[in-house]
Amino acid sequence: MTLSTDTHNNSFALRAKILHFTDQPDVHQRTGYEYFADGVLVVENGLIKQVGSAEELVKNGFDLAVCEHFPEHLIMPGFIDSHIHYPQTNVIASYGEQLMDWLNQYTFPAELQYSDKDFALKAAEQFIQLMLENGTTTAMVYTTVFAQSTEAFFEVAQKYGLRMIAGKVMMDRNAPDGLLDTVETARQDSQNLIDKWHGKDRLSYALTPRFAPTSTPEQLAMVGELYQANPSVYMQTHLSENIQEMEFIKQLFPEAKDYLDVYDEYDLLGQRSVFGHGIHLSDDEINRLAETDSQIAFCPTSNLFLGSGLLDLARLEDAGVTVSVATDIGGGTSFSLLRTLAEAYKILQLQGQSLHPLKALYMATLGNAKALQLDDKIGNFTQGKEADFSLINLSPTQIQKSRQQQASKLDETLFALMMLGDEHNIERTYSMGKMVYSCHSCASQE
Ligand SMILES: [Zn+2]
Repeated sequence: MTLSTDTHNNSFALRAKILHFTDQPDVHQRTGYEYFADGVLVVENGLIKQVGSAEELVKNGFDLAVCEHFPEHLIMPGFIDSHIHYPQTNVIASYGEQLMDWLNQYTFPAELQYSDKDFALKAAEQFIQLMLENGTTTAMVYTTVFAQSTEAFFEVAQKYGLRMIAGKVMMDRNAPDGLLDTVETARQDSQNLIDKWHGKDRLSYALTPRFAPTSTPEQLAMVGELYQANPSVYMQTHLSENIQEMEFIKQLFPEAKDYLDVYDEYDLLGQRSVFGHGIHLSDDEINRLAETDSQIAFCPTSNLFLGSGLLDLARLEDAGVTVSVATDIGGGTSFSLLRTLAEAYKILQLQGQSLHPLKALYMATLGNAKALQLDDKIGNFTQGKEADFSLINLSPTQIQKSRQQQASKLDETLFALMMLGDEHNIERTYSMGKMVYSCHSCASQE
């Protein structure tokens, strides 16, 4: 086999430690994942051609000399973030408020700037760079109410060849006038964006009513019609994040049985529906989510930062609800899925639950790919999948280096990575086999 180490060519191979998941891991049976302490990943024409142990490949005639070799690094599939707001990048770490005041005081003013397409393009560029330097290659993204901000996001994602899902936010009440659309403009803009972007290259569209308090019943009904008329698009919104928000729902929708029932009434539940948060849910709501295959995006750093509450993961999973994991920037405080998993671990610890590193890293890769129905394309290193992955330095800082030196088992290595890791660990990020991020200061430390 002739391969080049030049990543601009069609074929190349990297040799490193490699971890990926083939299914939900069983941590006792040690199934559902493959780990190669000395592995090789072969990429051809942007797709995974082969993954395996160096020893096995050599037995089959593979020449290791063609590989770029990183003996102490770990290669993993790109992280997937199931709930994030691109216009909130610079709202991150805004002090002192809970959800409703935080929206009014920080988020809405920031989103007003996105009526300017040039501003939106620059912001989309920054946002995507931040995701890539954190090893995130796919996300489900809220833009703003302005269609041009959604255009800007898709244009930049397309430029980098990324697999992304995004949608224009819809709000026709309870937000500043400058951020409101109407039932009709929201319908037109959303349908135009679907026609232009959904299924184009690696991009998909998500209908995005921000949440029930900012849409009239008429707007939610229109979203339901669009959802039914465009069966391959996604739907994303927020659900039961905060107690004050839930009181507001009771006032606005007195006839609804519960919060989820508002969305149910307008046909917004289903396999392609991603509800952010879902912290304060009744048994009825959980059963209804499970029954309709609707899913919850768990946003640990956001839930802690905004004081929203602790997600009871075991309760949702026991009821059969799919739970993905997400940063929820700018309520969330880090673009890093590693940091997000560390906070998820702590949230579960506070409730007497745990989060095994294999399960956590599964959630951030193949688990989220499955939740977003993208697992036929991304999420692991099965032959033929799109080659989205990161080269991870396990010891970029002094504390990680000394901790990793103590780690004798894979689980320990991965747990230390998940608890201490962040963007400093991400040395390179690849999308469709193309290097879309490389850390320059890291290379000089080699
Ligand atoms: Zn959110």
